[in-house]
Amino acid sequence: MYCMHCGENIPDSSKFCKYCGQRVDEDTAKVQEKAAEKAPHTETEDGFFFKGVHPIKKILMLIPAALLTLVVAAAVFVCTYPQLISEVWDTVR
Ligand SMILES: [Zn+2]
Repeated sequence: MYCMHCGENIPDSSKFCKYCGQRVDEDTAKVQEKAAEKAPHTETEDGFFFKGVHPIKKILMLIPAALLTLVVAAAVFVCTYPQLISEVWDTVR
């Protein structure tokens, strides 16, 4: 087999690589496999937030949020400046 640390060809029964001295038994191999499994999983989670969502879906999700923000802003504005609103309304009429 080949050492996973330095890539040198070593006997299959080796527990330690004679070239770099690192452990090369099964336990180490399993740990390395698990680490390799975890890495792409994290990438997938990042991708979900940054590129997994379709752009149109993003916009569709933003429209209700934007409308809600506008309504709340308008309500706050009306409650804060009722006089100004009636003055503007009188000017328009
Ligand atoms: Zn090695």
